[in-house]
Amino acid sequence: MIYDRLTTRGIEGSLAIDIGSVLWGRRPVGLSHIPSSRLDAFLRILGELRLAAFVSRRLQSTIDAATGQFRLSDEGASRDHNMCEVWFSKERLDDETVGNLVKACGESLSYPQCCIDNYSHEMGFSRLYAKYASDSAVRNWRLNRFASIFDDSRLTLDYLPCSLHCSQSAGMAADYASFLEAALGQIELAKRTLRNRMTYGLIDGMLVRFSKFVVEGENFVVDLSNIVRSSMRLGTDLGDAETGLLLFDSNLAEIGLVKRVIIQSERKIWRLLVKII
Ligand SMILES: [Zn+2]
Repeated sequence: MIYDRLTTRGIEGSLAIDIGSVLWGRRPVGLSHIPSSRLDAFLRILGELRLAAFVSRRLQSTIDAATGQFRLSDEGASRDHNMCEVWFSKERLDDETVGNLVKACGESLSYPQCCIDNYSHEMGFSRLYAKYASDSAVRNWRLNRFASIFDDSRLTLDYLPCSLHCSQSAGMAADYASFLEAALGQIELAKRTLRNRMTYGLIDGMLVRFSKFVVEGENFVVDLSNIVRSSMRLGTDLGDAETGLLLFDSNLAEIGLVKRVIIQSERKIWRLLVKII
């Protein structure tokens, strides 16, 4: 079992998707960003799985204080690096091979063409998340990148889709369903499915997850204790959409048309006008 081969070596969570996809022949090559402190252990595990590895860059990860967003940079990182970029494949990897892979990075890693094209035209992580949030189309829960902000919930390869309703990405994610069961195991897959299908929202531009709520007429009513906050702030890019529900195809019918979010706590009730975004 591929899941046992990975978990007995400490490869769990989203890493199991990225490594398993190469190990199981779903794509020829993969790439992961690993904390520098875990690099030796990671390379040893890849060796045990008979995967060739190549460390291509040393990077520095930081959290932006204003937005709470994660950043990876290679400026000055050779001195103070805390992350390593590692390519892996069943084939032998050397400087020249990886040099060629990097030239067409997205294609090498088997990401959909529309998402590759979109990414090169965007300003990166922060603007893409703001775009995901302000998009009014119904999102596909298998592509729910918001879920991964709260915990290790990713159900796709580690790339940023052009949108959370990208048909190429949705097709690939659906095609990966049986592979995911092999890579993650049934229980982990069920947990992640649940988390990806939950309702997310923005309150004052802060990304939140609603663990429980009721819909009463045009009101979405949630107790303060059932709101899980993230550290991600997206408000600055969103204009008047700073409070809203981020709906996925699995919860759209349940929620329907809502005009207000009502947040209840022991002492107070807040009413927030909401946009369904
Ligand atoms: Zn796409």
